[in-house]
Amino acid sequence: MIERIIIMTLLLFSTSCEWNQFADKIYYNGNIWTGNKNRPHAEFIAVKGEEILTVGSNHKAVQGPDTKLIDLSGQFVVPGFIDNHTHFMGGGFQLMSISLRDIDSKKEFISRIEEYVRDIPESQWILGGKWDHEMWGGELPSKEWVDSFTKDIPLLLTRLDGHMALANSTALELAGITRDTPDPSGGLIERDGNGELTGILRDEAIELIRNVIPDKSFEEMDAALDKSMEYAASLGLTQIHDMCSWDDLETYIRNKEKLTLRIYTLPWFTHYKKLIEYKNQYGNGDDRLRWHGIKAMLDGSLGSRTAWMHETYKDDPNTSGLVVSDDTLKLRQILRSADDAGLQLAVHAIGTRANEWILDEFNAIKKEHGKRDRRLRIEHSQHLLPKDINRFGKNGITASMQPAHLYDDGAWAHKRVRDNVLEGTYVFKTLLESGANVTFGSDWPVASLDPLMGIYTAVTRHTRDGKNPNGWYPDEKITVEEAIRCYTINSAYAGFQEDKLGTIETGKLADFVVLSNDITAIEPEEILNTKVVRTVVGGKDVYIGKNSSF
Ligand SMILES: [Zn+2]
Repeated sequence: MIERIIIMTLLLFSTSCEWNQFADKIYYNGNIWTGNKNRPHAEFIAVKGEEILTVGSNHKAVQGPDTKLIDLSGQFVVPGFIDNHTHFMGGGFQLMSISLRDIDSKKEFISRIEEYVRDIPESQWILGGKWDHEMWGGELPSKEWVDSFTKDIPLLLTRLDGHMALANSTALELAGITRDTPDPSGGLIERDGNGELTGILRDEAIELIRNVIPDKSFEEMDAALDKSMEYAASLGLTQIHDMCSWDDLETYIRNKEKLTLRIYTLPWFTHYKKLIEYKNQYGNGDDRLRWHGIKAMLDGSLGSRTAWMHETYKDDPNTSGLVVSDDTLKLRQILRSADDAGLQLAVHAIGTRANEWILDEFNAIKKEHGKRDRRLRIEHSQHLLPKDINRFGKNGITASMQPAHLYDDGAWAHKRVRDNVLEGTYVFKTLLESGANVTFGSDWPVASLDPLMGIYTAVTRHTRDGKNPNGWYPDEKITVEEAIRCYTINSAYAGFQEDKLGTIETGKLADFVVLSNDITAIEPEEILNTKVVRTVVGGKDVYIGKNSSF
């Protein structure tokens, strides 16, 4: 009897609560992967304001007379993707600039630029490039190719590898480069047989032009942000952790009211004093825009043989990489000052020696400054010695990784480093099994921003050259569900927001993505054919796919 009374009371209580708790919107009839281990699957998400009111299988209890109903038509839903490492403004400018990556003839090279020129304001520089003259037989482009239709519009287009660029006559003039200008040290100004400028500049000579490119205006910065936000929404991203400049942070603040995705900024570490001031004055920001961490960089990259290794490179016995920070004492001091002020530390480390160094350093900081919830992170965590893998889990260090890099690197990494190093490369599975918080992102615009591309690569470990159909070091493949967690809740944890983001459950912010396929149920190959149908941030649709049935 008493039990019955309790049940009746509970029922009454819950009904009366729900009476006031009608949803603004209900997304129903979905195949919802919540990421919440207590309730892994659901059929509807009820939204009130910016938050998830409830999730479940029967939405009638929260449907009021004014509730908007959205039929998900059985489609698959996951929590919004959170990218752990972007250079978002750089990506936006790349979207605004011209890409010649796919050009394979002189004729097309010229017509692509001609077309681009028609749409830009006269004062704007033509930037971008990524051309590769090997694609059309090896003849280098020259300023004569473009001068006739770029009068008064300066142009600087870099080659794919960034070591060569084409400038037009206007740009050369602005930089004061003539046939008599001497080559700068570390650079080359190309001239033809008669000593005339061809427009091709190599390495440091490119800087002569870059130095005269005016700083971006607020209008240009805001336009680039709009571009990248629109692109991110189309890929299902609802938050990014952005490794940014101070100007970038100010751009986000200026545009705060129109941000359609959440941004956790980690400005470059030399701005630590300004950031500490900011934090003291304004706190950590809010759910839309945050600032409570810094990004530093220890070594370079594998591609350029500047990742700091224990051994010399296989294809260059004269180097084992380098520390890019010109003053490690200063770096150590800044890391300590930032930690003292309660900032999160995120440090780029690619090589085995760099990762060991920063793991040691993080331990030292913890010992010196005492216990605190720090969530220290190593950006990339790319090549690890076997003895260091366990240290991530044991010491609570986040491995902030970008699986799409594997897709590119896996095709040529064996030329740079030996097997023993490769065995510790992108070890997603071993890190997860050893209890580390592994999180995923892209490093965009260095690699593709597409989270589905990242998930696909983590699951298949396929490489660009197609030579690893069973996966590159296949023991380190992880499951689709693990990969989704790395791209959602694990990233939320890395940003101290696991109570608000990363899963679809009551009380969290209503950030989720509708996909055209249930990626947990299809062949991994099909992940790349999956489309984002709808992206929801804080209960608002920020993207609706063209092919969606809504
Ligand atoms: Zn980066």
